[in-house]
Amino acid sequence: MNKPVIAIDGFSSTGKSSISKIIAKRLGIVHLDTGALYRGITWFAIQNCIDDDQKINLEELFASFKLINLEFRNDEGELVLYLNHINVSKEIRTKEVADHVSFIAKQKEVRDFLLETQQSLALKGGIIMDGRDIGTVVLPNADYKFFLTASIDERSRRRYMEMICLGMTTDLETVKENLITRDKIDSEREIAPLKKADNAIEIDNTSLNKNETIEKILSFIKK
Ligand code: C5P
Repeated sequence: MNKPVIAIDGFSSTGKSSISKIIAKRLGIVHLDTGALYRGITWFAIQNCIDDDQKINLEELFASFKLINLEFRNDEGELVLYLNHINVSKEIRTKEVADHVSFIAKQKEVRDFLLETQQSLALKGGIIMDGRDIGTVVLPNADYKFFLTASIDERSRRRYMEMICLGMTTDLETVKENLITRDKIDSEREIAPLKKADNAIEIDNTSLNKNETIEKILSFIKK
């Protein structure tokens, strides 16, 4: 069989990216964390498109797309996001970005801008892409589709630990509020909302660890 195209969608902090990264290695395919692209645009907007009232100016952002170059570079085996040739992998994980990303991601112009990039990367096959609309919109013909869920408390705990490990200061309640807000905006937006594709396999990993989730996903994939 040709190398598979795999779509992984689901709620924030269900482990989509870290799980996809390991599955990509195991199967010898490429991994694309599409959330990082939305975060990259958000970081650009925060840096360059802020009005006097401290709000993001969307018109200015849309007019700036031609100035935005987002690429993933292989940094000692890790795919790292570069925005206009600068490594922004740390910046895109900040609270500032987390607080604005779903607002940016619900804009049609932003989604259109990123759709082609994502689809062109999957043309050659051999890719696992994780996000919110991969199985429904970006790769509707993917060979395998998975939808990950977990309880809000477990997801908050995971994101909190991740941020602490990255050296950020935060608290569990703040993290939980951000996840709830993002899930709501992502699920209720008009364009490409977060939802399970009809033919996706749903996995609730509240009581599964990372390895157990990976093995479960791999058990569905024909070698
Ligand atoms: O996956 P991650 O939590 O990094 O995604 C950040 C945000 O990017 C999501 O909350 C969502 O608003 C947006 N996103 C999206 N569609 C995707 C991936 C991410 O709208 N395919």
